[in-house]
Amino acid sequence: MEPPKSLLHHVLMVSFPGQGHINPLLRLAKCLASKGLLVTFSTTQQTGQMMKEATNKTDDTTSNIGDGQLRFEFFSDGWDIDEPKRASLDAWMHQLETAGRDSFIQLINQHAEQGRPVSCIINNPFVPWVTDVATELGIPSAVLWVQSCAVYSIYYHYHHQLVSFPNPDQQDLTLDLPGLPTLDFQDIPSFLTLNPFDSLKQVILAQFKNLEKAFCVLVDSFEELESETISAMSHLAAPIRPVGPLFKSQNDVKVRGDMWKAADDCLRWLDSKSPGSVVYVSFGSIVALPKEQMEELGSGLLNSGLPFLWVVKPPPKELGIGSGLPDGFVEEAEDKGSVVVEWSPQEQVLDHPSVACFVTHCGWNSSMESLSSGVPVVAFPQWGDQVTNAKFLVDVYGVGLRMKKCTKKDQELVTSEEVERCIVEVTKGLKAEELKKNALKWKKAAEEAVAEGGSSYRNIQSFVDDIKRMA
Ligand code: UDP
Ligand code: UDP
Repeated sequence: MEPPKSLLHHVLMVSFPGQGHINPLLRLAKCLASKGLLVTFSTTQQTGQMMKEATNKTDDTTSNIGDGQLRFEFFSDGWDIDEPKRASLDAWMHQLETAGRDSFIQLINQHAEQGRPVSCIINNPFVPWVTDVATELGIPSAVLWVQSCAVYSIYYHYHHQLVSFPNPDQQDLTLDLPGLPTLDFQDIPSFLTLNPFDSLKQVILAQFKNLEKAFCVLVDSFEELESETISAMSHLAAPIRPVGPLFKSQNDVKVRGDMWKAADDCLRWLDSKSPGSVVYVSFGSIVALPKEQMEELGSGLLNSGLPFLWVVKPPPKELGIGSGLPDGFVEEAEDKGSVVVEWSPQEQVLDHPSVACFVTHCGWNSSMESLSSGVPVVAFPQWGDQVTNAKFLVDVYGVGLRMKKCTKKDQELVTSEEVERCIVEVTKGLKAEELKKNALKWKKAAEEAVAEGGSSYRNIQSFVDDIKRMA
C-alpha cells in the first residue's frame, strides 16, 4: 500500500531489537500516526521476522491509523537472518552499529528516492549511533527514553560526574539527588554500582554523549507521576517531555510487536475466574531466575491458595537448558486451577478484572502497565533500573511490597514463605485496601494524562507541531 501523498511529514523510528524497547517505541509510532504523520517503524530484520511470526502478520505491513499511516521496514544487522546469535554483548553491539548503520543509511536514501524523505528520526536507547547518522544527514532527531525520568536523572548525574556514587564496598552509603527520594544502595541501578555490568554500563552511558544532539527527549512516563523529578531536570539542554503511558493512547489499534506468540487463550481462562482473585506473575522478556529460586517461587504461589497465571519464558533453544520449573509443577498447578504460559498478552491481562496483583521484576514497561491498569504489585527486581522502579512502586507510589531475600542453602533467595506472605499481604492483608486505592488513583491519573487536554496529550501535540515546523 503506497502512503497517501497528503502525508507530508515522515517520521522514521528505530528500535533496539529487544521487547522492552520495541513496545514503547511501537506505541509511540501508533500515537504519532494517529496525528496524521507517515511513520516508519524499524528494527533489525531478524527481530522483524520474529514479530511477524509471533503476530501472524503476512505481507501487509502497513496500517492506516486516523489520518496517518504506520509502515514497518527492517534493516540488516549483518547477521544471517536465521542464525542464532551467541556473540558477547560487546560483539553484538559493535555488529549492530557497523552493519546496521550502513543498512539503515540505505533505507533513509531509498525513502528520499521514492519521494518520501525522512523529516525526523526517533530512536530509543542502545542505538545511540542513530543520532549520529541523523546529525550527519542533517535530519532532526529525538530520543524516546524507555525508562523512568528518575532513572534518567540518576544516569545523567553519573555520566556528568555531578555526584559520587557508592561502590560495592560502601553499601551503607545513600544517594541524594535533586527531585528524588534518598536512595539506598539497593535502589541505585545495579549497572552503576556492581562491577559485573561494566559493558552494559558503557552502552547505557554512551547514549548520554549523544543526547544533546536530540532536539527533544520523550519519556514513557507522565508529569503527574514524576512531577518533582521532572521539575528538577527542567534546566537540561535536551528538554524532557513525558508522553506516557504510551500503551494507554491508541490501545484500540491492534498493531502488536510481540517477539513471541502470546497465549491469548489465557484471557478466556481469566474470564472464568472471580474478580480480583488471580495472581499474575511475569519477569519480562530477559530475566531468567535460577532453578532454586523458581522452586521457591512455585511453592510460594501454590501455598498462597490463589489461582495464578505465570509466564515462564523458555530459554533460547541453542542453550539447551530447561525452563527451571520443577518436574510435574505445571500439571500440579493446572490440577489446582492455575496456568503456566510461555508468553502472555500482558496489557490485556493486567487490564482484566480478575487480576488481583502482579508479581513483577519491575521492568519500566511492566511498572507503567501495572500502575496504569490499577493493579497492586509484589516487587521482585533483579538488576538494572528494576531496583529503582521497585523503590518507587513501593515507597513513592504506594502500590505494593518488595520481597526480601535471605540466605537459604548458601544462596541468597526469596523463600516460598516470603512469596506467600507478600501475595497474601498485598491481596488480603491490612494494607491491601490502601494499596488498591493508590493503584486506582494512578490508573485514573494515567488515563487523564493521555486523554484530550491531558499533560501527555499536550506534550505529544507540541512534539508533532515541532516536527511539522522543522520539515
Ligand atoms: N542479542 C543477541 N545476541 C547477543 C545479545 C543480545 O542477539 O549476544 C539480542 C537478543 O536477541 C535480545 C536482544 O538482543 O532479544 C536484547 O539483548 P539484551 O542483551 O538486552 O538481552 P538478552 O540478550 O539477555 O535477551
Ligand atoms: N510482556 C508481554 N508478555 C509477557 C511478558 C511481558 O507482552 O508474557 C511485555 C510487557 O507487557 C512489557 C514488555 O513485554 O511491555 C517487557 O518490558 P519490561 O520493561 O517490563 O521488561 P524487560 O523485558 O525489558 O525486562
